[in-house]
This record gives sequence, structure tokens and C-alpha cells, in this order.
Amino acid sequence: MTGSSVAVVTGGAGFIGSHMVDLLRACGYAVRVIDNLSGGREQNLAHLRNDPDVVIDRRDIRSLEPGDALFQGADLVFHFAGIGDIVPSIDRPLDYMDVNVMGTVRVLEAARAAGVRKLVYAASSSCYGLAATPTVEEHPIAPQYPYALSKHQGEQAVLHWHQVYGLPVNVIRIFNAYGPRTRTSGAYGAVFGVFLRQKLAGVPFTVVGDGSQSRDFVYVTDVARAFLAAAKTPRVGRVYNIGASRPQTILRLVELLEGAVVHIPKRPGEPDCTWADIGRIRAELGWEPEVPFEQGVRTMLERIEDWREAPLWDPQSIAESTRTWFAMLSQPTVEA
Ligand code: UDP
Repeated sequence: MTGSSVAVVTGGAGFIGSHMVDLLRACGYAVRVIDNLSGGREQNLAHLRNDPDVVIDRRDIRSLEPGDALFQGADLVFHFAGIGDIVPSIDRPLDYMDVNVMGTVRVLEAARAAGVRKLVYAASSSCYGLAATPTVEEHPIAPQYPYALSKHQGEQAVLHWHQVYGLPVNVIRIFNAYGPRTRTSGAYGAVFGVFLRQKLAGVPFTVVGDGSQSRDFVYVTDVARAFLAAAKTPRVGRVYNIGASRPQTILRLVELLEGAVVHIPKRPGEPDCTWADIGRIRAELGWEPEVPFEQGVRTMLERIEDWREAPLWDPQSIAESTRTWFAMLSQPTVEA
């Protein structure tokens, strides 16, 4: 280890976390990763295997204690660890609340005991539910499923630790992050992994609904830059949206990927459009999205072989994996 500043990245072997590690190394930080490899993959950090300034700790964040050695001497903490899959949260709410909420509290307590200079939390735009667009940070919170609830409660814990204990924190609500290393295994969801694997297999893309719904896709290296800016700013206790603020329809994505389509039913609870108002992060941190959608998609197509091992989904396996979702979220609820 050299005498450089130290950053802890929870979930550093995951999709966004591993890009964060790359950016921090490029900026000269020594990096300590904690990742139990439940969603993350060792392969995402394989290029850093011989880097003496990168440490990988394979514990679960729920095993962290105040005073944990991993956090000693750390300046910055980037908290990405958690269960990221959306669909299985309807079947396993206990796991999601345990990891995404209580795991976050464990990270906060370890960071507090270590006296870190800043903690930045990876929050989810799913907290807004079926929101008015473009969506500002003050928009009412309305989680539609347990994943969204757990990520939002983690966010509330982060802000509470700032309010009560004076822990210097910022929160970033990420819209749809995409890019190399986006999840390639596990549960159904995350449209890029699904479509790239389908393209490799030469089977039709499973387009939800008529494909006119749009998402605010933001390229992963732009996401990592936003987190570094939120760590370096003297501002604390702030919540920032990040997206490209240029929603893209699923049909546009299909056009760029090129291939046949098959239509599948729309999931209840899914917004028709996500669109981040990014005025606050622009004004306060000077952050701008830099990678245009077409360029980001092109980069992923150049690396399409990375998705060879990903699960291949078709309308029938998607119907099976979303059965509880439809059963629960299609029910009419009684309003007061
Ligand atoms: N989507 C799709 N086919 C799939 C999976 C997703 O058309 O097999 C669409 C989905 O309707 C949504 C977008 O892709 O509009 C992004 O879905 P993802 O699950 O990646 O993210 P989220 O729904 O959480 O925004």
C-alpha cells in the first residue's frame, strides 16, 4: 500500500461498483472492496488482480461492526452493496429488507466509527413509483414493490445518520444505469442483459407491451463520475438524481440492437416513462452526462460476447419468473 487516500467501495465487484473502483484507481485512490459476490462477479475486477492498492474482502456487509478494520483510515465510502434484482423482491421481501436496509445501517455504523470524510449512497429512482416527468428530487415517494421500498429505507437511514450523528453523506438516485458488466446472471430483469443474450442466440427480443415506454438510460462511467463528484463536494446531506435526462424508448433500443421482436405483457407497477430532472446535480456539482445513448449501445454491442454465459429468457420463462409479481401487484387495493 502506498500513502494514497483510501476509499471503501461496498459492492465493488458489481456492475456500477466495479466501474467506481476503476475510476478511483485512475484518480490515485487506494481501494478496499467489500463484496460477498452474491450479485457481483470476481471477473469484474480481474484486471486489478495484481494491483497492490486494491483489497477485496468477501464478507457480507451484514457482518460489519463499528470499528471494523476495513474502514479504518478510510476517507470515502461508496455504498453500492445490496440486492439489485427487482422481480424476486416480491417473493423474498425479508432478504431485501435485511440486506438493503439493515446492511446499510451496518455500513453507516462502520463509517461513523471510522470518522470517514464522506459516504455516498447508491439510491434508486424506483422510489418515485409512477411519477410525473421530468422527475425532481422533491417528487412524492411511492415505492411500488419491495425492492424499491428497501432501497428507499436504506436512503432514509443514510440521511438519518447525517441528521442524528452528523455523518457526512450524499445520496444519488440512479435512473437506468447501463454499460459493460451489467448483470449477466441471476434473475429476470435489466433489459440490456436480456436483449444482448437474446441477440446472441438469434431469438426475438421480448419487448414489454408495445415498446413505446421509455427509460432514462445513463452510461455507467457517467454514473461513477457523479459519485466521485458527490464525494468530493463540501456539500452534505444532499439528494441528487442522475440520468441522461433524455428518455429512450424500448423500440429505439431494439432499432439500435437490430433484430426481431415478440411482445410480452406489461408488468403492473412499471412506469411508462422514467426521466430524471438533473438540474440540481448540474448546478451543485457541475456534473453532466457525457456518453450519448447510441455510443453506449455501440460499445455494448462490440462486447456482446460478454453476455454469452447470461441466462436466455423467452416469453414462457419470463411468465414463470414474474408469476408472483402479476398475482400480487394486479390485485385491486382498498384505498382509504
Ligand atoms: N423490458 C423489455 N423487455 C424485457 C425486459 C425489460 O421490454 O425483457 C423493458 C421494460 O418494460 C422497461 C425497460 O425495458 O421499460 C427497462 O426494464 P428494466 O427491468 O431494465 O428496468 P426498470 O423496469 O426497472 O426501469
